[in-house]
Amino acid sequence: MSRSAHPAGPRHADVLPEGHYSAPPTDLNALDAKVWAETVTRDEDGVVTVGGIDVKRLAEEYGTPAYFLDEQDFRARARDWRTAFGNEADVFYAGKAFLSRAVVRWLDEEGLNLDVCSGGELATALSAGMPAERIAFHGNNKSAGEIRRAVEAGVGRIVLDSFQEIVRVAHVARELGTRQRVQIRITVGVEAHTHEFIATAHEDQKFGIPLAGGQAAEAVRRALQLDGLELIGIHSHIGSQIFDMSGFEVAAHRVVGLLKDIRDEHGVELPEIDLGGGLGIAYTSDDDPREPYEIAKTLTEIVTRECDAARLTTPRISVEPGRAIVGPTAFTLYEVGTVKPLDGLRTYVSVDGGMSDNIRTALYDAEYSVALASRVSDAEPMLCRVVGKHCESGDIVVKDAFLPGDLAPGDLIAVPATGAYCRSMASNYNHALRPPVVAVRDGEARVIVRRETEEDLLRLDVG
Ligand SMILES: *Cc1c(COP(=O)(O)O)cnc(C)c1O
Repeated sequence: MSRSAHPAGPRHADVLPEGHYSAPPTDLNALDAKVWAETVTRDEDGVVTVGGIDVKRLAEEYGTPAYFLDEQDFRARARDWRTAFGNEADVFYAGKAFLSRAVVRWLDEEGLNLDVCSGGELATALSAGMPAERIAFHGNNKSAGEIRRAVEAGVGRIVLDSFQEIVRVAHVARELGTRQRVQIRITVGVEAHTHEFIATAHEDQKFGIPLAGGQAAEAVRRALQLDGLELIGIHSHIGSQIFDMSGFEVAAHRVVGLLKDIRDEHGVELPEIDLGGGLGIAYTSDDDPREPYEIAKTLTEIVTRECDAARLTTPRISVEPGRAIVGPTAFTLYEVGTVKPLDGLRTYVSVDGGMSDNIRTALYDAEYSVALASRVSDAEPMLCRVVGKHCESGDIVVKDAFLPGDLAPGDLIAVPATGAYCRSMASNYNHALRPPVVAVRDGEARVIVRRETEEDLLRLDVG
């Protein structure tokens, strides 16, 4: 199990001691609104419903495991981010959290922009009709083909991640007879996750160009010299699953310091600053995420204050939430296959999916919660570990959770807050068929990404 912090990855930092679990909740049947999508509730029979449809019906129709996404909640969250930042800022949804054509259309309709970081994500965005000028292209090693397609398509910005890329993008733009709008991603020495952040001079990671040692300033110098590039701003992304806003304060201070140096050296004030994403959500009842309105207010105040102090015109801010928009809107529905009590330890509950549909627990020690979804129960709580069906002892979905003591094979259980980095990181390990994503809204369910079939698998295996 990897325990190395990766500040730029979607890590849910584990600050709890090994083996930690909370006391059993007072009511195992309760659904904490903090971790469940907006329309999730129980009907009069005690069955969990989303968008007005109960999970027994959904399981019958779409099978398990499956992700069920509350479209109303997705749209509401997207709209909240958009409204909170208003017209003076731009919200880019980070497509890597979860991207499909339906999602792209919702974002377009709700007035959000979109971050992509591969040719595949770009193709998905364009094929769903997202206007290219509202797309930002990211990545630390974009291929020559990806750069060309992005410039040809006319993406609104390419976020440059290395000295080599500055030259590559300028070259392609010149060849195509255009000027590409770009930002330079810098690393400011702030590593933030959850309740802590660390500010250092250096940052040991693959993304961005270090502010330290004058490298970022040199990158700006070169970008400003190249005809093919229009440098519009500086980009910084400091971590993931962040609750503590003070990391952004240090990052903004350092980015604005660079803007000031650029103004002093080149006489230009760059018009934009991108503060990245990484805002946390509630995976369990212990997590207390910030509201978009509070985040917008805090970030805007920080940047304005720093710019005022540096006597700079406040640049246009952009942010890139991924998890904070899609994460809470979906849950994964599983069927229980086996229930195996281990005396004095815990009960292992095996479900019909696992690390192929949710790698975050194995990869980041992420915490999740779980509820019995197909019925309510008055049985005593039992301490469980929800595990998958893969040939790997690290195949854990929920490390420690309480489920009713009468849990039995055939019961449906649901794991909330799996909208981000679950389907998008899903794999075919053990030749598992990746689950569908079903959007539910106003009593109607619609497959937006269908379940993989054995034919899909065999089609790739050309013999
Ligand atoms: C991953 C990433 C995001 C989104 O992170 P979330 O934790 O999903 O909000 C935003 N910007 C960049 C550059 C990223 O790499």
